[in-house]
Amino acid sequence: MADRLHPVVVIGLGRFGTALATGLIEQGGEVLAVDSSPAVVQRLSGQLGQVVTADATDVDALRELGVQDFDRAVVAIGTHQHASILVTSLLDELGVESIWAKALDRQHARILRRVGAHHVVLPEEEMGSRVAHLVSGEVSDYLRVSDDWVLATARPPQDLVGVPLGESGLRRRHRVTVVSVKPAGSAEFTYTDATTVLGYGDEILLAGRTADVDRYVRSL
Ligand code: ADP
Repeated sequence: MADRLHPVVVIGLGRFGTALATGLIEQGGEVLAVDSSPAVVQRLSGQLGQVVTADATDVDALRELGVQDFDRAVVAIGTHQHASILVTSLLDELGVESIWAKALDRQHARILRRVGAHHVVLPEEEMGSRVAHLVSGEVSDYLRVSDDWVLATARPPQDLVGVPLGESGLRRRHRVTVVSVKPAGSAEFTYTDATTVLGYGDEILLAGRTADVDRYVRSL
C-alpha cells in the first residue's frame, strides 16, 4: 500500500466539499481546494491550506492551476448541476485518472458517469437510506460499501446465540456473514471464525448483499 496519500483537487467548497477537503488534510493529505466565490475562498484560506479562487468551468483556469498533473479530483459542486457536469467533463479531458463527483439525484449521477466521473456519490440519498435503517431500530449502524453490498451492526438473534458460528447455518440459510463481534462489555470489535460462540449482549458486524442483509435484519 502507498505510504503517501495522493494529492487531491477539490472543486466546490460548500458543506460537502469543505468537509471532504478537511478530512483529507486531517489524514495528512495534500489538497488543492478551488471555489469560484472569493468570499468562500477567503473564509477557508486559513483552514484548508491551498485554497484558490477560480471558475472551474474555464479549462484554461484549470490548466493554469496544474489540475492536469493531479491524478485525483473531486467535483463537489452540487446545486449548480450544469457546472458540475461541465467541470467533470473538463477533468476527463485533462486526463485526470480518478474523478469523483457529488450528485444530487440519480439522473444527475448518470450524466456525471457518462461525462467521465469514475465514482459518483449521492450523499443525501445514501445518508437518508442509512438513517432510515437506524431510525427503524433494526441496526445500530449501516454502511453501503457498494451498489449491492452492505455492512450492518446489530444484536445477534436468538438462534445465533450459544452455537459456534460455523454450525449456525447462517450463510446457507440467510446468505449473510458475521465478520466481527464486539463481545458484551468490550469496547472493541474482533474477528470471528467458525468456532466463535456469540452471547446475548454482543454486537455483531454483518456483511452481505443489500437485499439479504435487509431481509435478515428485518427478521431480527
Ligand atoms: P453543498 O450542498 O455541499 O453546500 P453547494 O452546491 O451549495 O454544496 O456548494 C458548492 C460550491 O461550489 C459553492 O461554494 C460554489 O461557490 C462552488 N461553485 C459553484 N460553481 C463553481 C464553479 N464553476 N467553479 C468552482 N466552484 C464553483
